[in-house]
Order: sequence, then C-alpha cells, then structure tokens
Amino acid sequence: MSDRLVLVINSGSSSLKFQLVDPDSGAARAGGTVEQIGEPSSPVADHEAALRRAFEMLNDEGIDLQHCGLAAVGHRVVHGGNHFHRPTLLDDEVIGELDQLSPLAPLHNPPAVQGIEVARKLLPGVPHIAVFDTAFFHHLPAAAATYAIDRELAEAWQIRRYGFHGTSHEYVSGQAADFLGIPLAELNQIVLHLGNGASASAVAGGRPVETSMGLTPLEGLVMGTRSGDIDAGVFSYLWRTAKMDVGEIESMLNKRSGVLGLAGERDFRRLRELIESGDAAAKLAYDVFIHRLRKYIGAYLAVLGHTDVVTFTAGIGEHDAAVRRDALAGFGELGIVLDEGRNSARTSGARLISGDESRIAVLVVPTNEELAIARDCVSLL
Ligand code: ADP
Repeated sequence: MSDRLVLVINSGSSSLKFQLVDPDSGAARAGGTVEQIGEPSSPVADHEAALRRAFEMLNDEGIDLQHCGLAAVGHRVVHGGNHFHRPTLLDDEVIGELDQLSPLAPLHNPPAVQGIEVARKLLPGVPHIAVFDTAFFHHLPAAAATYAIDRELAEAWQIRRYGFHGTSHEYVSGQAADFLGIPLAELNQIVLHLGNGASASAVAGGRPVETSMGLTPLEGLVMGTRSGDIDAGVFSYLWRTAKMDVGEIESMLNKRSGVLGLAGERDFRRLRELIESGDAAAKLAYDVFIHRLRKYIGAYLAVLGHTDVVTFTAGIGEHDAAVRRDALAGFGELGIVLDEGRNSARTSGARLISGDESRIAVLVVPTNEELAIARDCVSLL
C-alpha cells in the first residue's frame, strides 16, 4: 500500500460520501456512503455519528486510518465564493470564512462545514484541505461570469456566475486530452457532465470560457430535480400570486423540479422504462431535457468558434447511449457525426464514439471527482 493516501469526504445535509484514494496509482482503496443523517428513526444522528460509521466501514475492510499512511483529508466544498479558488488548508480562520459563505450556498456549504469540523476532531493528526467545486471556473471571462443586473448591487452581494462541478470539468477535459494524445493547450472542448446534477462547460486550451451553472447550481441544464434556466419572473410571480414564501419556491426549484417535477421520477433508468410504457409526461420530461442540452451544445460551439472535442461524463453521460445520440442527432453540418456502433457498445473507460468522418471528436470519459480532489490535496502538501 502506498504510504500517502487521501481520505476524500463529500458531506451533504443527509449523506456523507467517503473514499480512500491512492493519488499516485489513482486506485480507490475503499469507500462508501452513509445515508439518512439526522432523519427521524435513523441510527445516524448527526455528522459525527456518520463519520464514525464511515470509519467502522473502513475497519470492516481492514483499514485503520491511524496506521494506513493517511497523508491528508480532502473535503469537497461546493461554494468557494470570490475568495477561495485553490485547494486550501483548513484552519479555524478558513472554516470561519467558509461559514460566512453559507448564504451563497445554503443547501450545500453548511453540511460541508459540519463534515469538516467533525473530521478535524476525529482525525486531528493530518492536514485537512478544502477543494472547491467553483474553483476551476474562478477565471471565467468577465463576459461569461457577469449577470446583466445593477453593477453595484452585484458587487455588494458577490453576485456573479461561479459555475460548479469544476473538479469534474477540469479532470475530464484533462483526461480527454490524454486520451486523444493532444496537449490540453491545443484543444477546444465541450464537456457535458450529466448526472443528477448536470452542467456543461466550454474549455479553450485548458481554460474554462463558459459554463452553465451560475450563482448557484440551479442555472443551466435541466437536472434530476432542478429546473435549470428559468425566467426569474417565475419566482416573483409565485411569491405574489401563489403566496409561496422564498424557502418554498427555492425548495420547489431545486428539489421538486427538473425531470422529477415533470415526470414524477428523477432516475434516468426509470424514466426510460416509463417512456417505453407510453407515459406522456416522462416523454415530455425527456424531450425538455434533450432540447435544453442541444441548445447548450449549439451555444458552446458558437462560443468556442472552433471545437475539437465534445465529451460526455457522469452517470447519464457515461451510460445512456440514447441521450448521447439524441443530444447530437442532426449535428452533421456542425461537424459532429456519432458512430452508432461505437456509441452503443457496452464498454467502460474512456472511449471514442464519433465516426471517423466526424470533424469534431466525441468521447465518453468517466469522471472521478474523488481522485481529482485527492490529487489537488497532494499538490498542496
Ligand atoms: P450524481 O450527480 O448524484 O453523482 P450520477 O453521476 O451518479 O449522479 O448520475 C446519476 C444518474 O445517472 C441517474 O439519473 C441514473 O439513472 C443515471 N444512470 C446511471 N447508470 C445508468 C445507466 N446504466 N443507464 C442510464 N442511466 C444511468
């Protein structure tokens, strides 16, 4: 076993994901998810109980964190605000600053801070490092990062487009360059991260020039439970006429919208079954999802001007061949031709799915956010 392993922790409000990663080989030594934190009748009362449970699960695998060569604990933090855009060593001061960012990410940052605090308490002997989901997009061009609202208001309240899933977009764009054997600096890429959360990015020479998520992860593509792009007027209209309060509207848009809101089901495998059984709502949900995705691909082809590669990643992007086909159908004149045999082949790992005649390469590249976080941690040590 390598003598420098990184424990990567992704602490959400009701679940804690963990993985022990060897950043040198890229292997995941062990990992798991503790769910139902703090729910009524759950044996996992809080984040401390969840982390203790994670340690037990590692013990069951024969891993004792005190004696396995643990070099660091890497914490995924969703929002870094304007200030944090590099892997950052966590001390009391930094944690205090993260706490102050909570209004920007009320659903995500508070449970991450809780996870950090209990992990520092239970594993005091190793450095704890925060890796931010917004970091990769910190240097988005101003034209892409800026909302066209009152400038002083935006400055006073740190309102800009931050972008999320940055760890995945950075990792996958690097992997795509490696796969093609072309330097990252010479490639213009579109990355489509399609999981429960979904986002697109345009990456020119390794630097992000556009991304679909904004101030919060709500903007952009249609997602499992989030609406994606929506007229802000819907918010005030519901507030004024349906008498919903801010929390209710926010919860509706983030947790009960998207594919779930339209079809009553957020999982794409179930959605496919519903469509095949003739469910019209499921079909419409799928069509809205695909339409938005195609709109973004077209927009990013225009933003980049010249595109070399389009890459699909995350649960849906890696596994759902029909989504990939429908997303790119009829794009021949734009330079993209899928090879249906390659697209539907049941292979895992990075692979080419475009035809030899396609001017733009299309890839499937598995994302690995835990490994990317672990490597970020090691780069700081
Ligand atoms: P998260 O954003 O929670 O990390 P994932 O990246 O795991 O999500 O993606 C979850 C989505 O991927 C779900 O909608 C799921 O249905 C879909 N998915 C996973 N495996 C498959 C598959 N074999 N075929 C189609 N969709 C899949």
